[in-house]
Amino acid sequence: MKTKAALRYIRKRSISQVIDTITQVRTGEPLVALTFDDGPHPQFTPLLLDLLAQYEAKATFFMVGKEAEKYPEVVQQVINQGHAIGNHSWSHPSFVELRSLAEWKVEVRQCEQVLNLNGLRLFRPPYGHQNMKSRLALFFLRYKVVGWSVEAQDWVAQTPGEMADRLIQQIKSGSIVLLHDAIYRSRMTEPQYDRQPMLEALKIVLDTLSQQYRFVTLPTLLKNGRPVYKNWQRQA
Ligand SMILES: [Zn+2]
Repeated sequence: MKTKAALRYIRKRSISQVIDTITQVRTGEPLVALTFDDGPHPQFTPLLLDLLAQYEAKATFFMVGKEAEKYPEVVQQVINQGHAIGNHSWSHPSFVELRSLAEWKVEVRQCEQVLNLNGLRLFRPPYGHQNMKSRLALFFLRYKVVGWSVEAQDWVAQTPGEMADRLIQQIKSGSIVLLHDAIYRSRMTEPQYDRQPMLEALKIVLDTLSQQYRFVTLPTLLKNGRPVYKNWQRQA
């Protein structure tokens, strides 16, 4: 019976690794992973790097390939400062609106080619949109798909204080936090989103929580615990 239960467990785990999404990590250590999507941004990413350095915090950047191609020096700065990089697609489409493996593959591979992933194969779906087929495509492309457990909707206008409160209330050991060092615009005529309120909110969070938690990259968090997988199917 024990062997059967163990086999069942292993089987269940591997199925999770194929079709489910990592949303947080079960860990006994006081570790938290901050993640920043949609960059790199020539103005806001360097400001964010300075802020993280002040608190000796490490983070993970899910970059858009198209943007990374424009600002390779910012990508390099992120790497030089010991942060991790993940794939957030080439042009930030909703993956549920793409239909074929070929389309998903182009988005993922093209991004991969401009990022220095250093063997790290972490993917975050644009807008968090995903269906079973696109999730399976990522498995075949040998990526771990990472969602999040904490968000402050930093794309919605709010004061830094409000944003910081939301984050502080939700963050616990093993949390994966969704933030943005840029907000992807499909057309350059769309207004730029100011990231200053997010940066101010993050300063409050780091001030408040740095004694209690260590902010680490996703690979470090994953090494120090067991990933929690969730069935993550989201559409627009
Ligand atoms: Zn995004």
